[in-house]
Amino acid sequence: MSHVFPRHCHASLPTVSHGAGAYLYDQSGKAYLDGSGGAAVSCLGHADPAVTGAIKGQLESVAFAHTGFFTSEPAEELADRLIELAPQGLNRVYLVSGGSEAMEAALKLARQYFLEIGQPERSRIIARRQSYHGNTLGALATGGNAWRRAPFAPLLMEVSHVSAAYAYRGQAPGESEAAYCDRLIAELEAEIARLGPENVMAFVAEPVVGATLGAVPAVEGYFRRIREICDRHGILLILDEVMCGMGRTGTLFACEAEGVAPDICAVAKGLGGGYQPIGAMLCAARIYDAIAAGSGFFQHGHTYMGHPVAAAAGVAVLDRLVGDDLVGRVTPMGDLLRQMLVERFGQHPHVGDIRGRGLFLGLELVADRESKTPFDPARKVNATVKKAAFEAGLICYPMGGCVDGKLGDHVLLAPPFILTEDQAEELVDKLETGIEAAL
Ligand code: PLP
Repeated sequence: MSHVFPRHCHASLPTVSHGAGAYLYDQSGKAYLDGSGGAAVSCLGHADPAVTGAIKGQLESVAFAHTGFFTSEPAEELADRLIELAPQGLNRVYLVSGGSEAMEAALKLARQYFLEIGQPERSRIIARRQSYHGNTLGALATGGNAWRRAPFAPLLMEVSHVSAAYAYRGQAPGESEAAYCDRLIAELEAEIARLGPENVMAFVAEPVVGATLGAVPAVEGYFRRIREICDRHGILLILDEVMCGMGRTGTLFACEAEGVAPDICAVAKGLGGGYQPIGAMLCAARIYDAIAAGSGFFQHGHTYMGHPVAAAAGVAVLDRLVGDDLVGRVTPMGDLLRQMLVERFGQHPHVGDIRGRGLFLGLELVADRESKTPFDPARKVNATVKKAAFEAGLICYPMGGCVDGKLGDHVLLAPPFILTEDQAEELVDKLETGIEAAL
């Protein structure tokens, strides 16, 4: 009997043996094309020698030195590199061990910032209904995914949730994209007015929504207007790039494509590429400076923050992403994969939408394409796709069938940036096997 506490108590999982390039292998030797990097983690694929070499080198010099006593060369280098590459204005990096920690740090930093500058009334967060920001309590409260939140509702702080920019379902028939955008902005403005702008601390969003919607970018101009509203009311803009950042959508930071810079940004997943657990919260100079000039101490921290081995992995991953320009492959390969998906599924009666940006793509599966009627969640379409695709040798990330019945099932694709054209074809073939098994 296994003593591991698994995600699913009754799942019987193969034991992974090794990874190489775009594939994982189990102990029987079966190969699985990693079409989603687990959940958009493995941007470089597996066993990248430059990254494993950097990790080994760091382990041989020093594995751990508590950040209450020391800084380290890899942490300093990673922070410098991130700031060099980040949108203008971001200037300090807080290194943590993953996405939830990065978001938790972002929320607490926003709160402490307003205390330090003498605006203690600012504590309210506005986020979006279909969003995921992590599983720790603050991040979970901020996310809008009803299914994930439900069991823990009594433990969650109060957060306002407005509509996501989700044109496939939100844009009314006959409504222009600009009018839809106006409507979303008006909804946010109304919520700010209801709360009182002086009480609002932050607006939180994923530039391209990942786990809860399946690679949904906002409509044109949405984030520029959000930025303007935040500036007008003195509200901090926190962008969660845990899943969509680090080149996944074709630019190192997803918000570059929106023409906005946040006040605080969270990254993780692709930052370590799966080679080490690492996340980072980046913040604007004025936020850090307010704390430095005030209490001088951010009242937050984790034992493994700034871990030298994780930071060394982050530097090596950035070298591959930017130095070797793997990010440069994302848009052309993403366009190619999308075109293959459109050719294969564009007219499929149960594929309602094919969307995304770069190598962050999603398919929404529906019972009826014309009316966009979702499948009955009891059918567990996404679980069947996942199982059948896995049996066929593909790792993809189907989600959805939310308890509120508002979400259609979707499949998220986030393959490594080293994906070849042949592997893209293999991905589409195996995905078809998975989808056909479910429908
Ligand atoms: N934010 C987003 C957008 C995510 O997709 C995730 C994880 O899927 C998280 C935060 C939480 O990250 P982690 O699982 O590393 O804690």
